[in-house]
Amino acid sequence: MFNTKVTLPTGETLCMQGSDGKTSAAFQKALEKAHPRVKEKPIECSCKATPKVHLTIRKTTRANGTTWFHIVRFADSASNHIGCFFYKPEKNKCGLNGYTDEVISNTENGVKVALDYPLVWKAGAGGNAPRRQSPLIPTHPSSSRLKSMSALGFLNLLWERAGLNSWSPQLSGSRNDYRVINLLHRTAETITVGSHTLSDHFLALPEKPGDWEKNRLNELHKNQVNPKDSHERRLSVIVTLLDNVEDYKLVCTSAKRLKLTLKIELALADSLKVPGGISAQALTAANLYQQASDAYREQARKQPRNQQKPSETQTALESKSEEFEQAKKNWDRSPKAIVCCLAYLKPISNGYINAEVLDAAIMPVTADWIPYASSYERLIAEMLVEKERTFRKPLRYDASLHTVFPDFELLDTTPNPYPMEVFGRSDEKYEARKAEKIIYYNAEYSTENWWYWIANGEGKHLQIPPLP
Ligand SMILES: [Zn+2]
Repeated sequence: MFNTKVTLPTGETLCMQGSDGKTSAAFQKALEKAHPRVKEKPIECSCKATPKVHLTIRKTTRANGTTWFHIVRFADSASNHIGCFFYKPEKNKCGLNGYTDEVISNTENGVKVALDYPLVWKAGAGGNAPRRQSPLIPTHPSSSRLKSMSALGFLNLLWERAGLNSWSPQLSGSRNDYRVINLLHRTAETITVGSHTLSDHFLALPEKPGDWEKNRLNELHKNQVNPKDSHERRLSVIVTLLDNVEDYKLVCTSAKRLKLTLKIELALADSLKVPGGISAQALTAANLYQQASDAYREQARKQPRNQQKPSETQTALESKSEEFEQAKKNWDRSPKAIVCCLAYLKPISNGYINAEVLDAAIMPVTADWIPYASSYERLIAEMLVEKERTFRKPLRYDASLHTVFPDFELLDTTPNPYPMEVFGRSDEKYEARKAEKIIYYNAEYSTENWWYWIANGEGKHLQIPPLP
């Protein structure tokens, strides 16, 4: 489960979650080759679930004349394969209910979304840049639904569509930095913002960007920085690992390596640094990642020194090696922070490309790239991976904290997903909250069975309760 493969009419097999490490270009090539033969042999997902999900390859010509191929599910085909890449969770099993119906709509090749900022904007003489519709810090009550998506909502959407909020033991060892970046680029092909394909504006950067990313940035820069007499302004969407948020800058090693500076306004920096909530968790994750990375480098630095001293014999070398291995392991297993920013790229100065960031969101993910909203949720996500479970992390998007949906869904508990709840807030009147949840689970899952852990506050469990 959840390492969904599809076999094309050409006989070639593709991994929908990118665990084969195929680049977006290689993926395109395979689809292009199979496209003329798509009517010969039906394409299905690799799951054993029935009824089968029926898929096809669609070809589209973009505004810039390039051609793209997509694997899409027939609209009338099954969407109930839990744990499958083509599984579409219902809106009330995550925070998508917080939007009006117009915010996300299905298209032939994926989805169309309404962002707070348009990707292309024609400025009148002396006109101001568009302003975001949602407040920097969400204050809206659960009853009011948003008419557009913030950077955070968008980052959630990107993650969910790439399948990165789900996990199955088959994915173990296959989700690394480069593959995730590939997958994000591929996902960007399926998202339209207004009338613009996201991928024409999109750049995801691994920690160590190479020539491909450098070229991509230059290409984006060339397209986004407009001639002087043009009033058109184009936004870029940049996703990468975050090191830190400074008063006027987002600090990212990857961007630094590409000589890209991400400048922010103080108000945005302040909103990202507000204590509590997802941004604070992301900053903690960024900090843990930095510490683990520094400790690893420190050990790596010590390594050759041993070899310079032959008198220190093999034992000393081995014990140092163990520390080195441990440091490497800690770094590999460290959580990290993802940043998504909407930015205007400025003309190059001193060899640097400056990006004026209009909106940004930060989100913590585990070592396996699974988002979480609290330290307790992180514990659960890591435990589920360790126990080789298949699960999904429903995402909040821009929905208010009062919106009810499960913190996790176990997907290997046939025949139905099994909801999981972590009560982590000590200020919460959890009995009242629990009653609300019971009503929700009975209605949405037709089950009285739901797992919960009172991690904090009244009646807290010191031990995590056993899993179903
Ligand atoms: Zn399937």
